[in-house]
Amino acid sequence: MHAYISDLQAANACEIRFQEKLAPYTTWKIGGPADVFLIPENKEKLVETLRILHQHQVPWMVIGKGSNMLVSDKGVRGVVIKLGKMLDTLHFEDTLVYAGGAYSLIKLSVMTGKEGLTGLEFAGGIPGSVGGAVYMNAGAHSSDVSRILKQAEVLMSTGEVKILQGSDLEFAYRHSRLQREPGIVLEAVFQLEPGDRKEIAAALAANKDRRLRTQPLSAACAGSVFRNPVGTFAAKLIEEAGLKGLRVGGAEVSSLHANFIVNTGDATAEDVLTLIARIQDMILTQKGIKLVPEVLMVGEQ
Ligand code: FAD
Repeated sequence: MHAYISDLQAANACEIRFQEKLAPYTTWKIGGPADVFLIPENKEKLVETLRILHQHQVPWMVIGKGSNMLVSDKGVRGVVIKLGKMLDTLHFEDTLVYAGGAYSLIKLSVMTGKEGLTGLEFAGGIPGSVGGAVYMNAGAHSSDVSRILKQAEVLMSTGEVKILQGSDLEFAYRHSRLQREPGIVLEAVFQLEPGDRKEIAAALAANKDRRLRTQPLSAACAGSVFRNPVGTFAAKLIEEAGLKGLRVGGAEVSSLHANFIVNTGDATAEDVLTLIARIQDMILTQKGIKLVPEVLMVGEQ
């Protein structure tokens, strides 16, 4: 057994599972097992877990709600840390909102609206966690996390906890500093504005209604597969190329939203990757544009 496993056990730092299948932890319902799957019980134990992994120089990755990742069929060689209840916190201080890294973004948009705070209506249909949304600078409806994030409490890979200001996080389109410097968002602080509860609820309902009409929300998927190229939309290019309904194995370009790939039941990561490559080839040939995936490829290829 690896020495770090013995140390994690000795410190009682987290629940340890071996060969845990990752598919159920992702919205695409695809992916092989993680060699080692860690579930720390609380924030302190998460910090302890990371310190031990750092001491032993063990690489790790963290999974939030798994709504923006394609886990390979072979799975992850190494450690996956699952964030859950221990970071599922929420409290308000006037117009500041403190949300735990694992808190649901959809729930957050509803709860802040009920509190009469405006600014998070854009997040109403994004099925990720607060931490995943900071990592990705998630956005929709012409807004994104960068516009409202005041600061984040981040557990760095050394085990040190830092407060990073929004301006420190190098936000850009679906990008944050955490993509180059690993860290776990323990808590995010959002600066919202006082708003009208009814107007906020109406905006949330309108956004939800639009998503229900335009996105395959009852299917297993991971949202937009490709980033929007400058000046256009990936969905528009894929639709114009006539690729809706294109299928590889169990993976299919959604007929509702061309930038979504749905798992029709038994899709493998390989099916999705092949379909992604086909779409990229066809769009490059037809439009001269190289589409870049927004979803993250995780695990052993
Ligand atoms: P995961 O998929 O679990 O992880 C994504 C990345 O974030 C990984 O690298 C992971 O390590 C990292 N991460 C997760 N938690 C933390 C943490 N606490 N600290 C540090 N890093 C962390 N996205 C949009 O931007 N706009 C949309 O409109 C949108 N619509 C979607 C609609 C559907 C139906 C679906 C399925 C997805 C959609 N997405 C959208 C994609 C996705 O929901 C977002 O990218 C979301 O922010 C990912 O959060 P997550 O917790 O699921 O992250």
